Amino acid sequence: MTRILILIVLGFILFKLLKRLLNRTDAKPSASQSKPLAEEKMIQCAKCGCHVPISESNSKNNQLICNNPECQN
Ligand SMILES: [Zn+2]
Repeated sequence: MTRILILIVLGFILFKLLKRLLNRTDAKPSASQSKPLAEEKMIQCAKCGCHVPISESNSKNNQLICNNPECQN
């Protein structure tokens, strides 16, 4: 009788651990996906004045400019 109880308890613990692992793998990608978008810094182009994400900007003569070809010169 005690053997059956131990098996039930062990099964319950394993089930809970599996559920926790599944939740953890589900939560990780969504958290890392939303972070870069929220933390991306916006800069103002020194030439045309439009706001662009810092990853899409270039620096020239210590000024930050956008990817617009007219601003590259
Ligand atoms: Zn510009």
